[in-house]
Amino acid sequence: MGNRSSDISGGGGQPFKSGFVALVGRPNVGKSTLLNACMGEKVAITSPVAQTTRKRLRAVVNTPSSQLVIIDTPGLHKPKDSLGKELNKAALAELADADAVAMLIDATKPVGTGDEWVGRHVAGSEAPYKLLVITKADKANPEQINKQLEAARKLADFDDELVVSARENFNVDAFVDLVSEHLPEGPKWFPDDMTTDATPEDLVAEFVREKLFLNLRQEVPHSVGVICDDIEYAKDGHASVTCTVLVEREGQKGIIVGKGGSMIKKVGIEARRDVERLLGCKVYLDLTVRVQPQWRRDANEIRRLGYSADE
Ligand code: GDP
Ligand code: MG
Repeated sequence: MGNRSSDISGGGGQPFKSGFVALVGRPNVGKSTLLNACMGEKVAITSPVAQTTRKRLRAVVNTPSSQLVIIDTPGLHKPKDSLGKELNKAALAELADADAVAMLIDATKPVGTGDEWVGRHVAGSEAPYKLLVITKADKANPEQINKQLEAARKLADFDDELVVSARENFNVDAFVDLVSEHLPEGPKWFPDDMTTDATPEDLVAEFVREKLFLNLRQEVPHSVGVICDDIEYAKDGHASVTCTVLVEREGQKGIIVGKGGSMIKKVGIEARRDVERLLGCKVYLDLTVRVQPQWRRDANEIRRLGYSADE
């Protein structure tokens, strides 16, 4: 861990707190949205489709008296294929290391086997602080929320509980403060101006994935992968960005490309906006769709895509 700053004291003589916070919860509970809200800018990708977050994203949140390194884990879930297994391995590794674990439960969905499965791992984790977070409070009434709290309390031995709405910015600061208080005393691990340790390539690939999912929900299964092959900065100040979209079947390629290339063009235009904001310059975005049967089961490819826990 580099960048160790010597500033250990926070404001007002309180000891400075820092540590790693793992966000866990079954897909779609709102992990990425909460992380974004904590950051106040778009670093993680949120979408209405489960399992968009394949890669771990770390985001650094600074307060005057603390530094939280929040880790947005891929959704823990019962694995169906080798990619699923890799994702779980990554998420479980984060759980094992964390100073704090926040387990998210969706206020609007009955607590089910998916939550129980995650809960068992939280219960088994040795993280010194475990926080139960009920999400999407804006979509639920108080009765519903109380019911969720009651059901969720049974899943693990939580130290605290909090109800939030990331969308309406309700209790997001409270989340940061509550977790901060319970982190160990420690240094600033990362400099103030660093907000995420995902590479630009990681973020670009995630942006493209997000737009694919948003535009093609039902038609595009989870068997779509995106690699950002290259980001090249030209002398005139723009960046040329090349990405490959991997699919398993010819039919999927047809859907993604669309009539006369209309769909991939739309995805490219939407993704380019985010990429330009990220890189802070004009961007030419080149998307190529490639059919590669069974890429998900190909462990090498998975590792090349960077989804593995042990890199
Ligand atoms: P993740 O899979 O756990 O990372 O979930 P996401 O953060 O991607 O969120 C899944 C869906 O829930 C997205 O459509 C979000 O917009 C939505 N969502 C997340 N947080 C809230 C919230 O506080 N209120 C509402 N109404 N929707 C939310
Ligand atoms: Mg996510």
